[in-house]
Amino acid sequence: MSYLDSLFSLKGKVALVTGGGRGIGQVVALGLANAGAETVIVSRTGADETVAQIQKAGGKAYSLIADITNEKAVDAALKEIVSRSGALHIVFNNAGICIHKDTLDASIAEWREVLDINLTGEYVVARAAGRLMIEKGIKGSIINMASMSGSIVNIPQWQASYNASKAGVIHMTRSLAVEWSEYGIRVNSLSPGYIATPMSVDTPKELKDAWMPLIPAHRMGKPEELIGAVIYLAADSSGYTNGSDLIVDGAYVCI
Ligand code: NDP
Repeated sequence: MSYLDSLFSLKGKVALVTGGGRGIGQVVALGLANAGAETVIVSRTGADETVAQIQKAGGKAYSLIADITNEKAVDAALKEIVSRSGALHIVFNNAGICIHKDTLDASIAEWREVLDINLTGEYVVARAAGRLMIEKGIKGSIINMASMSGSIVNIPQWQASYNASKAGVIHMTRSLAVEWSEYGIRVNSLSPGYIATPMSVDTPKELKDAWMPLIPAHRMGKPEELIGAVIYLAADSSGYTNGSDLIVDGAYVCI
């Protein structure tokens, strides 16, 4: 293997992808497996199709059911990963939801649901993984899914809970990066712009038409265009990258 290949190789690593049953998580799970990682997908409803695609391509994968807001379920999933795979080196903490609603109409229950999954859920997974890595002396990499919405306010749709949750993820990431640096665990976040997935593809056409002039790239990103960023953050290539927020948004936040 060339030096460059070894920098980006995930051979011998075990990677956890939350929300890998569809959308970005599914495509990135395929990418991580392709880079050599044994890939474990966690979601609430299962990820048989993702596992089948990885296995068909010659990779190793299995899926587990857990709601990331449920501490006990997450702990049980991590215990199972250690028992089946022996370790956990990479976490793509990707699962999340979005509710588009004006603040004046949104309920506190909706605010709580978004914060609970997007921020507290990622915290639950990161904390359990960090504990495990520290206990086993693993110098792992945790990649938290944020969004450009953690840095800007999207228009014309209103989504204060989502924006707040993703801003929280970015600063939680910095906090954990500093806290766990002494253990050799790196924690970074990924902030995509609009990516064509089930979350955004079902968005009304009028809304997408309103987005296009605001995106310097004049198109939505493809989930495939996030694979390289996640592999970079997961692999030795990013050994000195810690507490960073990697924005992949077709230059949206620049204007
Ligand atoms: P999708 O809706 O396509 O997929 C979300 C995934 O998360 C599903 O697999 C879902 O599976 C899982 N999930 C949701 N809630 C939970 C939970 N409580 N516990 C476990 N799994 C859960 O979304 P995307 O692929 O579009 O988005 C993935 C991430 O990327 C999200 O965090 C999102 O905020 C972020 N993002 C997306 C952008 C976009 O434009 N699409 C832009 C920027 C960021 P199940 O329902 O089976 O649990």
